[in-house]
Amino acid sequence: MAVAATVPFTHLCTMLEGVDRAKGKDNKKKVFKEFLDKWREFHNSVHKDDPNTEDSFYPAMRLILPQCERERIAYGIKEFTLAKYYIEILGLAKDSPDALKLLKYRAPSHAKGEAGDFAAVAYFVLKNRCPEKGSLTIQEVNDLLDSIATNNAAKNKEEVRRSILKLLRSTSAMEQKWLIRMIMKELKMGMNQAGVFAVFHPDAEDLFNVTNSLAKVCTDLRDPHVRLNEIAISLFSPFKPMLGQRIPLDGVEKEMHHEMFYIETKFDGERMLLHKDGDTYKYFSRSGKDYTHQFGAHPLEGSLTPYIHNSFASHVKSCILDGEMVGYNPQTKSIMSKGDKFDIKNMAEDSDLQTMYCVFDILLLNGQKFANSPLRERVDYLDKLFTPIEGRLFLGDRKEARTKAEVIDALNEAIDRREEGLVIKYPGSKYAPDKRKGSGWLKVKPEYVDGLMDQVDVVIVGGYFGKGRRSHMISHFLCAVAVQSTTPGEKPALFHTFCRVGSGYTLKELYQMGQKLHPHWRVFDKKKPPKTNIMFPSGYKEAPDVWIDPEQSLIVQIKAAEIIESDKFKTGCTLRFPRLEKVRDDKEWFDCMTLEELDDMRKNAEGK
Ligand code: ATP
Repeated sequence: MAVAATVPFTHLCTMLEGVDRAKGKDNKKKVFKEFLDKWREFHNSVHKDDPNTEDSFYPAMRLILPQCERERIAYGIKEFTLAKYYIEILGLAKDSPDALKLLKYRAPSHAKGEAGDFAAVAYFVLKNRCPEKGSLTIQEVNDLLDSIATNNAAKNKEEVRRSILKLLRSTSAMEQKWLIRMIMKELKMGMNQAGVFAVFHPDAEDLFNVTNSLAKVCTDLRDPHVRLNEIAISLFSPFKPMLGQRIPLDGVEKEMHHEMFYIETKFDGERMLLHKDGDTYKYFSRSGKDYTHQFGAHPLEGSLTPYIHNSFASHVKSCILDGEMVGYNPQTKSIMSKGDKFDIKNMAEDSDLQTMYCVFDILLLNGQKFANSPLRERVDYLDKLFTPIEGRLFLGDRKEARTKAEVIDALNEAIDRREEGLVIKYPGSKYAPDKRKGSGWLKVKPEYVDGLMDQVDVVIVGGYFGKGRRSHMISHFLCAVAVQSTTPGEKPALFHTFCRVGSGYTLKELYQMGQKLHPHWRVFDKKKPPKTNIMFPSGYKEAPDVWIDPEQSLIVQIKAAEIIESDKFKTGCTLRFPRLEKVRDDKEWFDCMTLEELDDMRKNAEGK
């Protein structure tokens, strides 16, 4: 049974009357809240055996906020039409004082202040003609209003008349007053829409703004203690993940409230949400598309589930994880960049790449929802969730930082690793599906301004070994520009060191090129520097581990945000956020950028 079928319409109107009379916003809200609380209490007792009931506060809400009502078709009734109905139904003589009052409700009358307010004028006319007490429930009133609306649209005057008559005979004059306001879609009780929503639920206005549905607001937000972000998130149903706001480096500290923040790796793949309940898995993309067929619904199928199923800790029964699905190259032990042209969502079984899931958030664990827990607590749960597996399941890492300088350092390192940026997160942020602005998640990328700097083609003259797992591989290159020979047509004989750039394992061609360079590397002993045509600044700053004769080397194309001063390189300047774009195997070693060209570029950049 619906609550609205039991609650008398009189109660609703008495509440509205109370709100109208109460002085001040807070008192008005209090009156409404008392009514709402009683409704909720009654609702809980009526539906205690059916927690999933569709019944809600909606039947009352649509009368309280008739201007937000979208389900009932327009009444198409204006004051004048209603006045004529009343005159006819009440059998008033057309030129009787009461009939004139109704028809000319705008004219100043004896009842001061009521002029222009049809409902108030009608109240006086109806006072002695209506029952003292109404007998309709909220549901019955809604039914009658539905009938007025549909019959009016169908030009079925007789039925409209009948419904109005029924309303008149079963409601008091005070109720009529509110009914008229409901029909005119303006309650005039001194509490606006935002006020009503705020009392109903802290997320009501937000939800109404996106759905435009009072019915949805009332059913979804029935429980004032359950927040919207938790409602959206439930096992095996898709939701839109939280997003990051793009922000310039200068804005980071302010956005993070000048407090500690996390710097996370920005994975370059496809956003994917993993839902798991025991042996059953589902994967949803950012737009809610189901990719379970690709990644695997069970431990025996798909490109991911079979490899990760056993890595979950035994206490994990159900969970929802947020992360990025990336392509992993087991040969180079590296994550592929999306620019390397493959589609992780449709990868063939015989691909050289394997699917790897990089997890950075958790929204549900064993039935408990975490959307309202701050990020710092959510990541704690993540730590104990699974054992990472190389190339299959990766636990996103985070670094604590406070300043812009730390962000710049981290960004430099990220660009070195050929990542496109960083994700910065406020540890206190809650998880709000589909939210971007003000979410507490920021994306920072190097500010490559098109046109501000051209790509440069420089020659590789040195190499640096990586750390840890990559200690046997060259992870960075030292690049140089040529000193143009004074004799036209002659090849350059001297090179000035200019920048250091991450080698980018993910570039297939570069990997192949690495093989080509391999036989020509020679150790660079900093204590006894070799005699070469490569010029270093004093103190052999940025001296490489190995060097190569430019004649045996390659030209690479580098993109950067800008040219900045630096004493670490012979040129006296270097590139900010350099990024290796491609190997220019169409160019010969002597086609590399010259000092002169570099100077021109510097001047141009300054001029801009
Ligand atoms: P957006 O996704 O913000 O609309 P976009 O599709 O152009 O923009 P980017 O601006 O490149 O993507 O980066 C945002 C995306 O980065 C996120 O949608 C998410 O898929 C991905 N991402 C990678 N790593 C993380 C991380 N650690 N935390 C959150 N998101 C991450």
